[in-house]
Amino acid sequence: MSKIRVGVNGYGTIGKRVASAVAAQDDMELVGVTKTRPTFEARAALAKGYDLYVPDDSVQAFKDAGVEIAGTLRDMYGKVDIVVDCTPGNVGEMYRDQYVEAGVKAIFQGGEDHGLTGISFNSTANYSESWGAQLSRVVSCNTTGLLRTLNPIDKRFKIENAFVTIVRRAADPGDSKNGPINGLEPSVKLPTHHGPDVQSIMPWLNINTMAVKASTTLMHLHTVVAQLAEETTTEEIVAILRDAPRVRLVRSKDGIKTTAQVMELARDLGRDRSDMYEIIVWEDGIKVVGNTLYFYQAVHQESDVIPENIDCIRSMCKMEQDASASVAKTDASLGISKTL
Ligand code: NAD
Repeated sequence: MSKIRVGVNGYGTIGKRVASAVAAQDDMELVGVTKTRPTFEARAALAKGYDLYVPDDSVQAFKDAGVEIAGTLRDMYGKVDIVVDCTPGNVGEMYRDQYVEAGVKAIFQGGEDHGLTGISFNSTANYSESWGAQLSRVVSCNTTGLLRTLNPIDKRFKIENAFVTIVRRAADPGDSKNGPINGLEPSVKLPTHHGPDVQSIMPWLNINTMAVKASTTLMHLHTVVAQLAEETTTEEIVAILRDAPRVRLVRSKDGIKTTAQVMELARDLGRDRSDMYEIIVWEDGIKVVGNTLYFYQAVHQESDVIPENIDCIRSMCKMEQDASASVAKTDASLGISKTL
């Protein structure tokens, strides 16, 4: 089978990582990435060997800066089977019609609404729903995190209700504009949008979410309380989460007490950009009392959605029908393993 040709529109936090992950697949070819301005990131992309494509009105700025481009955005559409749109939230929707007119498939990110595509994606919860689709959307980092853990638990013990508080990172590490840099900011619009976003994939799940922005850039942290339809034990939940794809159990008593040590572990594992693609669950913080389950999980917002984007490409481009085979292939390429 010939390789699927992929373009990445928007080369920021998510786009850079999607580009590297596509380049690491043996069944995909990275045609190029787009930048709107000739910044250091554009030069770094060129240094990595990626072709740059730019919107029509950016061509002159790149010429003036002496940064070489391979063509315009529309030129890129002519060379790809699928675009992964990684532009900022609500910018992607402006491109939707362009992709459709150009006859290319497109994946959007969690900053866009479910209504833009009518299909949302998670690798293990609903891989087949994007099969052959022209448009799909990989849900946000927090939603991906909740689906990775709640879906396997719900499959085994139906979840009657889930209550989640999301302690959100204030900004990504490379972002010096957003805050707060001191203080905790509650989201006063309640319940937050995270619950409905989970329901775009698990519509039957009763889930209520609140969120607080905290002065950290490393990861989000979720506190989860779930009422299960039947009583179980802590050990059974640990076993389910140990087996769940892209979930990593860690233990406080091994020295991983905070998200700082989780990021240090990612560095020790030698991951690309020090990424932690898995959802981190503190094993010694899982507790079942009767039919009430409590646990904490951490989400590396910059990277957990990257493997899902790769699987979404395979589903939309009909490259691999079996979700678990795609997940295994993606995981092997990114160094995600249950044994490390
Ligand atoms: P970002 O701001 O880091 O990157 C966006 C990139 O798009 C930048 O390079 C910017 O220059 C470029 N861009 C801006 N306007 C453009 C345009 N009109 N055409 C082409 N490129 C344009 O944003 P991000 O954090 O990577 O977020 C991208 C998407 O991923 C959003 O939908 C976001 O909600 C979602 N997402 C972000 C995170 C996260 O924590 N950063 C996690 C999961 C999902």
